[in-house]
Amino acid sequence: MKDKKRIFSGIRATGRLHIGNYLGAVKGMLKLQKDPKYEMLFSVVDVHAMTTPYDKKTLKQKTREVVLDYLAAGLDPEKSILLVQSKVADLHSELMFYFSTIMTVARMQHLPTFKEKIKQHPKNVTMALLNYPVLMAADILMYKSEFVPTGIDQEPHLEVAREVARKMNSNYGTNFPEPERFDTLGRYVPSLTHVGKMSKSVEGSYINLVDDLETIKKRLAKAPTDSGKGEKIPMDSPISNLLHLVGLIQGEKRKKEYQEQYKSEGIRYKDLKEELAKAIYKELEPIQKRRKKYEKNPELVDRIIEEGAEKARKIAKETVKEVKEKMGLI
Ligand code: ADP
Repeated sequence: MKDKKRIFSGIRATGRLHIGNYLGAVKGMLKLQKDPKYEMLFSVVDVHAMTTPYDKKTLKQKTREVVLDYLAAGLDPEKSILLVQSKVADLHSELMFYFSTIMTVARMQHLPTFKEKIKQHPKNVTMALLNYPVLMAADILMYKSEFVPTGIDQEPHLEVAREVARKMNSNYGTNFPEPERFDTLGRYVPSLTHVGKMSKSVEGSYINLVDDLETIKKRLAKAPTDSGKGEKIPMDSPISNLLHLVGLIQGEKRKKEYQEQYKSEGIRYKDLKEELAKAIYKELEPIQKRRKKYEKNPELVDRIIEEGAEKARKIAKETVKEVKEKMGLI
């Protein structure tokens, strides 16, 4: 284990995972978990969930849901480390503070993700929100992660993490890698509503990993369509989005067939959605079976959480000590 390179990736505790999280982030994590060169850290970043308004009554439950979804999706605690961020919040927030000494307020205020969030939550423009990407840099660099399996929406934050690494290395002689996004085909899964990306926090935008066939059908039924026929499928339209999902789930070949059909006899969206729903469910069924096993065994899940936190803390302690030495604190 010792010589393995570590990979960190996190998902906010803001709800159950959807197929966007799965295709954009979790699939990449699972691929790296299989690679003997790496040791994966799958994290539920519950402290990050506090950067936008949240309900203190449900935060723990939401964290638990993501843990279960991770385990159900194939995270193997024998091979990888499961980390609930708040279990090592002392060290993660300590590192965030050291990193925040080298990042300017102006740089953070100009991030597109920050601007978007303050539009969504104008009454909640907090220090924590501004520091979100610095905390994310601390999460990633704590484990010296060279890659981060994540969707394309996180690219601006990874750029911050690289900047932190560069500045820390040049100002203080640390040896942080500059983390790159580990890409997957599902790097951007559009919302079913056609506006923006599929997101846990946008109702109607997603299909959850726990959805049964009927629910998937109902959710897909609401996705906007057109007449199904025309000279060319308009770019960035509800149809191109739907076909993008077909490509990700059923493959490029099926997507091309639909593209041809659009130009000839036309697409029957009812059939397309029926077929797509079945294909999605086929991919989710084994995940849901595994989830049930873990749901029935809460003690095992508790143990996995505690053991993961212990392993992560050991590594995190070393990094924080090294940074304190380099920055002249000890
Ligand atoms: P959400 O926006 O649904 O709350 P998070 O911000 O917790 O999701 O993101 C968790 C992971 O899932 C990140 O790696 C993110 O890039 C990825 N992800 C989120 N939404 C999508 C999407 N629509 N397509 C691809 N990847 C996504």
